Amino acid sequence: MMAAPTYALPYDRRVHKRGADLLNDPVLNKGTAFTEAEREAYGLQGLLPPRVTTQQEQLDRFLPGVRARPTLLDRYAYLVSLADRNVTLFYRLVIDNLEEMMPVLYTPTVGQACEQFGHIFRRSRGLFITADHRGRVREVLANWPHADVRMIVVTDGARILGLGDLGANGMGIPIGKLTLYTACAGVSPHQCLPVTIDVGTDNVALRESPTYMGLPRPRLQGEAYDALMTEFIEAVQERFPLACLQFEDFGNHNAFHLLETWRDRICTFNDDIQGTASVTLAGLLSAARITGVPLEQMRLLFLGAGEAGIGIGDLVVESLVAGGLSEAEARQRCWFVDSRGLVVRSRTDLAEHKRRFAHEHAPVSSLLEAVEELRPHAIIGVSGTPNTFTPDVLQAMARHHARPIVLALSNPTSKAECTAEQAYAATGGRAVFASGSPFDPVTLDGRTFVPGQGNNAYIFPGVGLGVIVAESARVTEEMFAVAARTLAAMVSEEDLAMGRIYPSLSRIREVSRVIAVAVAEVAYTRGLARRPRPDDLAQAVLDAMYEPEYHSLV
Ligand code: NAD
Repeated sequence: MMAAPTYALPYDRRVHKRGADLLNDPVLNKGTAFTEAEREAYGLQGLLPPRVTTQQEQLDRFLPGVRARPTLLDRYAYLVSLADRNVTLFYRLVIDNLEEMMPVLYTPTVGQACEQFGHIFRRSRGLFITADHRGRVREVLANWPHADVRMIVVTDGARILGLGDLGANGMGIPIGKLTLYTACAGVSPHQCLPVTIDVGTDNVALRESPTYMGLPRPRLQGEAYDALMTEFIEAVQERFPLACLQFEDFGNHNAFHLLETWRDRICTFNDDIQGTASVTLAGLLSAARITGVPLEQMRLLFLGAGEAGIGIGDLVVESLVAGGLSEAEARQRCWFVDSRGLVVRSRTDLAEHKRRFAHEHAPVSSLLEAVEELRPHAIIGVSGTPNTFTPDVLQAMARHHARPIVLALSNPTSKAECTAEQAYAATGGRAVFASGSPFDPVTLDGRTFVPGQGNNAYIFPGVGLGVIVAESARVTEEMFAVAARTLAAMVSEEDLAMGRIYPSLSRIREVSRVIAVAVAEVAYTRGLARRPRPDDLAQAVLDAMYEPEYHSLV
């Protein structure tokens, strides 16, 4: 029998497989696109229908099947089954139809996918590190089959989107985020590692469900939890020293604590805090072009003082300070309303991360009252509580400003503080509106408004790619500020004329590429790069981007 030839693929992998093994390898499989010569060389004759098709013909055959699925969750499962069979075709389909596929592969569908994890689970993906692995996390990490991991997204499932504690079912989130790294910024799939740290779940219904596949016990807390996380992070440094570690959907306390502990020691960031901050800052910078009020003069009022809100506040402050304001002046621009009212000095119930934004002011109990008192230029909804930007609140905003900025960022759509239609209707079409989940364009009195989507996917894939290209040792606040300015600069006058403060999602690969160059530039300027500077950084970024093309195996 002829030995299977081996080839260096664009990545560090050789083809030793033949026949059914080759067809069952989702990275190497091309399905009906295997050529006659490949079918001969690899023992595929008879294992495939005879007609050889192009990748485009495969797409033309598969895409109608995706669209025919009745629900977004069905489409998600259908696409995952494609990824399980043929990674290249999966990414071709996703990249060529990115705007359509993003809501299928990430918010809002990914939340449902996590909730239904036990039902739609077919083939395991990613790495599960559990409380029972304490003391041998290195060994478990060594089981991952790819050596050159550069991007890790990790969750402990404590607070999945706005859905709460989903334990090990949270795995859908790192998988989804990494899919976006590849689709939006061309980070190679084999360089991506989704990780779920299963420390149990405090969701009793889930724990008791027969379809739950995680550890059915209460969450590990305190020192034991910290020890497991430290062991994991140190093991990552050993096995994948060039990897960037992105924290995702951790509970409030752990998210802030892990970020503070590790941000100056390893290459890490938290997207809920920093990615959200960057995309929102970009939105505010674009909105300033519509309202004529520059960021330095804006008063911002946040509804919700959690990871997203405080993250945005911190980055706005950093950005204003870089622009010449004192820190005290910059903080004075950011006001917060949490579930107990305005965050003011006299309150004794404030968590550490809120205290830095507690200002001298009499107590105020409602958002409406706060809007009337503070007359903010922008209200930013990051509360996870729907219908909180009531008509009263929106009308008050419109009374105080010609072009009030209304960002209803809570996800999924059902949690948005208000809908696009409500925002435009209550302000006579004057609101500069963007949301976290997509809303359709709204027509009001014959005018059509296109709401922007403050999607973190504008930011994190590009930041990650820039970090990878420079092999940066850290991910800094400056990088997120630069990413925000870069994104805002890509918003065209036409976008603004439609009321859209973000570029079209169809441009996201271009956006990610440009952000990656800017972020890598910061890494080089700040001496954080661990790789010599290429002569042409823009070209180096372009060269690093994965393209889902079939490579000849003969
Ligand atoms: P979090 O749990 O850390 O914070 C939520 C905060 O809102 C808490 O401080 C809570 O006390 C407060 N809150 C809840 N109900 C409230 C109410 N009725 N009035 C005032 N405050 C209230 O969550 P997070 O990570 O900050 O995320 C918050 C929301 O932002 C989520 O819905 C999430 O989907 C959304 N988000 C959107 C984007 C984006 O659009 N790009 C990014 C990240 C998070």
